[in-house]
Amino acid sequence: MKKPLILALLSLLIARCSFQKETKIIVEKREREPKAEIKEEIIEEAKEEIKEEDLSSILLVNKEHGLAPSYAPGEDPIAKEALLALLSQMQNEGLNVSDRYSGFRSYEYQSELYADYVMQYGQEEADRFSARPGFSEHQTGLAFDLMHEDGTLLTNPLEASWLEEHAAEYGFIVRYPEGKEEITGYMAEPWHIRYIGEEAIQIRDSGLTLEEYINLP
Ligand SMILES: [Zn+2]
Repeated sequence: MKKPLILALLSLLIARCSFQKETKIIVEKREREPKAEIKEEIIEEAKEEIKEEDLSSILLVNKEHGLAPSYAPGEDPIAKEALLALLSQMQNEGLNVSDRYSGFRSYEYQSELYADYVMQYGQEEADRFSARPGFSEHQTGLAFDLMHEDGTLLTNPLEASWLEEHAAEYGFIVRYPEGKEEITGYMAEPWHIRYIGEEAIQIRDSGLTLEEYINLP
């Protein structure tokens, strides 16, 4: 601890010198310097913390970054509100999109889903479109699969390109774009949007996947 040491030094100085002006100046100087140093340290630490917080504020879930089985936040209320606004705007514009969607999935539910896909398609193929339990973005409560009115996943080019262009205005990104399978780990999913918040605009404009964007220096 620096403070007791300073105090000890001060009392030593005061004891040794007979309260002359010169001594007082030295004492004051000694007292000030370490304090300024400590203050700077605190500011630096705070800056680091803010920096770390910024980087981790976007939750990344992919084949390498998973979630604990107990992580079950349910549907994020802010994301849900944004989603409803997006859906009604699409419908206002006469686009073919349903009110129904697939949002939050628990670890247990994803386990069942993945096991079913593996049974049907084999593991290698299932891994191209289905996440293993703990590695689904749907477990975050921030991801949604959109559907056409007939209940099929949204794939029509008109609706898909609307999402690419406008989803960011509602805080969403199209998470698995065409031609990025090597990076995201998934084949293109025009129906899967992920809530980010305001930064979605920057991500869209960058043309990068979330993986690339987060890893920017
Ligand atoms: Zn999805």
